[in-house]
Amino acid sequence: MRKVMNNMNMNWMILALLAVTMTAVAQQPASAPQNPQPVAATQPEQTAAQPSQTQSGQEQSGQAQSNLAPPATMDQVIDRVIMQEKELIKFLSPRTPIVETYLQNLTQDPQLGPIPQNDHYFLGRMDLSQSIDRADYLKGKDEGMERHLLGGFTKKFKFQYQPLGFSWMIFVDRTDFDRQHYHFHYARREFLGDVRCLVFDLTPTKDAGRGRFLGRIWVEDQNFNIVRLNGTYARPTRNNYYFHMDSWRLNLVPGYWVPSYIYSEEGDFTAGAKNKIAFKAQTRMWGYNLKTATPNDELTNIRVDSVKDSTPTAQDATPLAAEREWQQQAEDNVVERLERAGLLAPAGDVDKILQTVVNNLEITNNIDLPRPVRTRVLTTSPLETFSVGNTIVVSRGLIDVLPDEGSLAMVLSHELAHIVLGHNLGSQYAFNDRMLFSDEVTYQNLGFKHIPEEETAADKKAIEMLKASPYAQKLDSAGLFIRALQVRAPQLSALLQAHLGNNITENGMVTRMAALATSAPALDWNKLDQIAALPLGARVKLNPWDDKVEIVKAQPVAITSARDKMPFEVTPFYPRLSRFSTASASAATTTAALPTAATTADANASLSPTN
Ligand SMILES: [Zn+2]
Repeated sequence: MRKVMNNMNMNWMILALLAVTMTAVAQQPASAPQNPQPVAATQPEQTAAQPSQTQSGQEQSGQAQSNLAPPATMDQVIDRVIMQEKELIKFLSPRTPIVETYLQNLTQDPQLGPIPQNDHYFLGRMDLSQSIDRADYLKGKDEGMERHLLGGFTKKFKFQYQPLGFSWMIFVDRTDFDRQHYHFHYARREFLGDVRCLVFDLTPTKDAGRGRFLGRIWVEDQNFNIVRLNGTYARPTRNNYYFHMDSWRLNLVPGYWVPSYIYSEEGDFTAGAKNKIAFKAQTRMWGYNLKTATPNDELTNIRVDSVKDSTPTAQDATPLAAEREWQQQAEDNVVERLERAGLLAPAGDVDKILQTVVNNLEITNNIDLPRPVRTRVLTTSPLETFSVGNTIVVSRGLIDVLPDEGSLAMVLSHELAHIVLGHNLGSQYAFNDRMLFSDEVTYQNLGFKHIPEEETAADKKAIEMLKASPYAQKLDSAGLFIRALQVRAPQLSALLQAHLGNNITENGMVTRMAALATSAPALDWNKLDQIAALPLGARVKLNPWDDKVEIVKAQPVAITSARDKMPFEVTPFYPRLSRFSTASASAATTTAALPTAATTADANASLSPTN
């Protein structure tokens, strides 16, 4: 089910990132390299190292750099950089990572600086085999890509965001990264995190053609992999406009630095700069290690997890027991299917934090459920929650923006209330045929929306539970969060569009747990110790290779003005780069994550659960 966006020819390696269409939609692509050729293998022995579908691309480091003599001259370094980049392109070509772009158009606020005016969200899979294609997950839900993409900032121009454009800078140049097309100018050495880098400025050669990379690359100085790219593409046409990008890679597998984050920004708020576009966008990639399901896989990988009956004497199920078994089966099916689609993070440390909060609510409310409540993290940015059976799912983006544990308890209490009240959803997914769909149509095939009556009942029950819990004293911050969300909701419809669960707002008004806002203190941007909501990315770090999530470990940075608060906003990425090590990889999964406030100076803004 691959459909590429309108006007998009497979062979057309579009570099035009923001197409400014003067009149009609019809528009010819900027001239760009035609008929991209598969990149030639640079080393004969690499053919054997073609990453197989079976799990470990890890072991078979496709790069034989260790066998190569260290480069002696800068020219030799450049040759190695080019070789390694081609090696990466080859390594990633069988993979179809998930790519998510979240964009906020900006408007100038006298007090807060640039704030969101409206937003756009794209989620898809990238096919890195021949060129770079995106298949969008959200198609069918919106009335066509076209309407979804049109920004319409000025009367004169129509701006059209092309989601593919945001992911272009995962490579320098998919087809022609060589000395015929680029000049390399060595700039200096510089550390990015723990990694010492050589910095080069790249300019296209005179005859390189349109759409060539123009900017700076950072190359780690052991194996000469590019770890960061920053710049734009050169020589736009009249109708096409290339915007600027900052693209980061992480060393998540031995020998390879995997494209992970791309930040894009354009903006001009100088006096008189009217009708100019201004936006910030984050693109994240993950799911590199997701298996591409083939019909063959489905037959060979039948799971034979033990389902032994552990009851002392073999018994038949009572009707109620059968009902519960059935719900468990549906729950397991959905969790497994979402994980396989890269939409649910594997069980991990963040779940433990959520779990602790749920336990606190259960214990203080004497809730004793026949099956334990589990918690999982949805890997996507839009703010949403849902539950299926006894599993509560919270999105990465929602955890990101929560200011403290009290607001986390608020979020979880609503879903816990559904479970306590027996609002079971999803039992239809106990039928396994309902799990057989392609990843791209996950959102059309799964859904966990309650009727309004159940939503109201869950809110009421949740507030009861919160008031009887250790969080009773912390509901001010939860209410403040609702207030902040209410202020921004009309501008953030894409971030607030739930894809699997119920929306937390309706028509720009917060509906979920809205009663808490009434008793909360007034929102005051100038009060620097009042942190109502955090920027996106403040809490949760998603591993692009294996989809694991962990809590961001960062030193709090003091807030010095109202502009530093940036609630629900998009910011640049600045990951701390480090080299792959098995030690750090396993440490990351075993650390008992006791999170601290990620970006705020507020000591209260800690997510650590009260035990
Ligand atoms: Zn609900």
